[in-house]
Amino acid sequence: MPNTVDTAHIQSLDSAHFLHPFTDFKDLNARGAKVITKAEGIYIWDSEGNRLLDAMSGLWCVSVGYGRKELADAAHQQMMALPYYNSFFQTTNVPAATLAAKLASLAPKVDGRSFEHVFYSSSGSESNDSNVRMVRRYWDLLGQPQRKVIISRHNGYHGSTMAAASLSGMSYMHAQGDLPIPNITHIEQPYFFENARSGETSDEFGLRAAGWLEAKILEVGPDKVAAFIGEPVQGAGGVIIPPATYWPEIQRIVDKYGILLISDEVICAFGRLGHWFAYEKFGYKPDLVTFAKGVTSGYIPLGGVLVGDRVAKVLIEQGGEFNHGYTYSGHPVACAVALANLQIMESENLPERVRTDLGPYLASKYAALNEHPLVAHAESCGFVAGLVLVKDKRTGERFDPDLSVGMLCRKHCFANGLVMRAVGDRMIIAPPLVMTHAQIDEMVALILLCLDLTWQELK
Ligand code: PLP
Repeated sequence: MPNTVDTAHIQSLDSAHFLHPFTDFKDLNARGAKVITKAEGIYIWDSEGNRLLDAMSGLWCVSVGYGRKELADAAHQQMMALPYYNSFFQTTNVPAATLAAKLASLAPKVDGRSFEHVFYSSSGSESNDSNVRMVRRYWDLLGQPQRKVIISRHNGYHGSTMAAASLSGMSYMHAQGDLPIPNITHIEQPYFFENARSGETSDEFGLRAAGWLEAKILEVGPDKVAAFIGEPVQGAGGVIIPPATYWPEIQRIVDKYGILLISDEVICAFGRLGHWFAYEKFGYKPDLVTFAKGVTSGYIPLGGVLVGDRVAKVLIEQGGEFNHGYTYSGHPVACAVALANLQIMESENLPERVRTDLGPYLASKYAALNEHPLVAHAESCGFVAGLVLVKDKRTGERFDPDLSVGMLCRKHCFANGLVMRAVGDRMIIAPPLVMTHAQIDEMVALILLCLDLTWQELK
């Protein structure tokens, strides 16, 4: 690709004016940001003409790959017809209503419970703020206003607004801004590699980890607990895949105490784990499902909450006006792009392909990384995968965090044409769902190369 961008100029504008999310501003200014200028399929290019295989799908979102004309066409057509209108004052628009019905039809029914309603936002964070508002409203309307506490998990990620950052279990986020806000509390995550006892099986650990929820409910007081929220597989926390026993036991516990269950599927929905919605894979029955990212493959911001019958019935029949919403709730262009994106996913059969073909193929290739001297616990679930970089493979001894071993590995990835994310000492991927087997092979070969280079540097 010809280099038509003046990299130094863009970097200087960037340094002078753009405060990046989750970034040490001073550190970035000293380095200069990598300027991404173009993308096609599973690859992105920087302003110096370097091509990188994007094994993170942007930020877990570009599921159908880059450069899909159908999505650009849908946005263009909708912008010409109706670029914007609000949905506050008893008005709607064609894409928003059509998409809501489409999402309702895609969400699997479990034990007769269905999701007939959608509340729209523009992001995962906003959607989880909406969840907090809906959960509180639900219990108020049922005459149980004391049910305010939402239980979440350490190292879970639910977004970055005040409520969503509070639901998130990241101590480094809580340390800035007096978080969490009141009535949000956390339990330990189901991270087998870190939290299992010696000799404990994965299934045993899953039951014990779910038991931490029951212990917390009893500590808080069952009549004060409003909801439990969790990601089916923790993404930003480092792709933490729960044992098979975990979610069914969580379901048993929330049922026992009558509390609401929120499945935050901002990453896991729309085929990423091989299903339209991941609760189906793990066999649980949420009351609310958060979505964003993959609904538009990240081409335009859109998020929302699938509202199950249990909550919708109360909000609709007993609630009167719900004093909550966003300027861009049901944005026509975003919803039109989402419809075109879901159309691609359906016509290319992406959830099923991930479940029956691409996911198992990635799993076999990824598990082979366990042979590498630097790697422990390499595993995947659908089209997310993670591994731990360890100092001593035999004992599982971890590296000194000050060494930032993950960042070291990420540096080699960037230098060798691969985007892989580091979360502490975990290296993670969430590639586009449109990869071929040959591209999976290419990605895994690149990962191996970068592991080798990291290993050599550490020796
Ligand atoms: N929930 C989960 C599970 C996420 O992974 C994210 C973002 O990565 C969010 C919520 C927040 O989404 P957003 O960044 O669109 O606000």
